[in-house]
Amino acid sequence: MVGAAGGSLMLELQTQVSLQALNSFGFNSVAERYIELTQPAQLPALIDYCQEQVLPCLILGGGSNLVLSARVPGVVARVRLRGIEVVSRSQQTVRVRVAAGESWHETVSWLLDQGFYGLENLALIPGTVGASPVQNIGAYGVELKDRVTAVHVYDTLQSQFTQLTPSECQFSYRDSLFKSVDPGRYIITAVEFELFLNSDHLVLNYQALQETCATIAGSQVVTPRHLFDAVCQLRRSKLPDPVRLGNAGSFFKNPHVSAAKFQALKQTFSNLVAYPEGEGYKLAAGWLIEACGWKGKHFEQVGVYDRQSLVLVNHGGGDRIQIESLAVQIQDSVYNAFGVRLEPEPRYYP
Ligand SMILES: Cc1cc2nc3c(=O)[nH]c(=O)nc-3n(C[C@H](O)[C@H](O)[C@H](O)COP(=O)(O)OP(=O)(O)OC[C@H]3O[C@@H](n4cnc5c(N)ncnc54)[C@H](O)[C@@H]3O)c2cc1C
Repeated sequence: MVGAAGGSLMLELQTQVSLQALNSFGFNSVAERYIELTQPAQLPALIDYCQEQVLPCLILGGGSNLVLSARVPGVVARVRLRGIEVVSRSQQTVRVRVAAGESWHETVSWLLDQGFYGLENLALIPGTVGASPVQNIGAYGVELKDRVTAVHVYDTLQSQFTQLTPSECQFSYRDSLFKSVDPGRYIITAVEFELFLNSDHLVLNYQALQETCATIAGSQVVTPRHLFDAVCQLRRSKLPDPVRLGNAGSFFKNPHVSAAKFQALKQTFSNLVAYPEGEGYKLAAGWLIEACGWKGKHFEQVGVYDRQSLVLVNHGGGDRIQIESLAVQIQDSVYNAFGVRLEPEPRYYP
């Protein structure tokens, strides 16, 4: 442990800390310096320290959307800010503020227990609440942006705590201000949501979800609890548990193409899976990868999951170099077959 004076606060930095249990790929990665953030007051001191020492700083949540190198230089700051509070309540809705270090899934589950509805479709997504706005997490027809009312941040450029409106966050499909427009500038300390107090707002757009809900509910009217259980059941059947098989969920975003490009592809590949979106179509990246023969393929210690081609896995002992190499091979083969470039969803660091 080393003590570093950052501003007026003493920062307790550990050195040479293993991140293997702190990234969902389970890669053997070591942080040069490491700190746990348990109170927002540590942030100004930490950022001052990094700027004075000219050190990069990785803000770490649950490590479920990161591809880490064997050595991580500078400082890794793991966000452990805790707490959930009701900010206001009307007849129909409730506004809740959740600290960034809370577990996403446990928060969704706790809110459901309170009778605060609207996040059930996003159940079982790994990671922290603080990371959820970064790529505007989404699943089964709901995205974070549909429920967020404010994001509380520490602005490292202005050296001040502030809050951002949803439009300032520039949310889009698996993207936001935090991920691609101004990465690294803001450290998220808490997220505010507006949730429903009645169960009239269930989002059941996906056929598999409707069917699973109907099976679980039986003769009853489908409730938010049924929806939550159905989402958990579907996800458990499709996605590998990172505790057993390292992964970062979907490794590639579903690519968006023009209507003309979609029509051209559809003529050649009649079973192409795609969904209309905006002026064009979103192609199912998993279908494109599977069509190129990658499903279940092994490459050194990593590979493509045998039940879902969109998921790359660490069979044990794999590393960033192997995953990156596999991802590039997949991108190239999809591009050669369909003329479509896949974009990775997780962040490579550094
Ligand atoms: C099995 C599995 C299934 C998944 N399913 C989905 C899914 O259905 N939908 C979906 O959208 N994603 C999914 N993911 C991806 C991942 O769970 C989400 O992106 C999640 O929000 C990442 O949270 P995290 O805390 O682990 O973030 P990390 O991986 O720790 O960090 C991700 C990025 O956010 C930044 N960050 C983290 N916390 C903060 C903060 N407080 N302030 C500023 N920046 C921060 C990091 O620096 C990094 O750039 C899945 C992953 C796995 C392993």
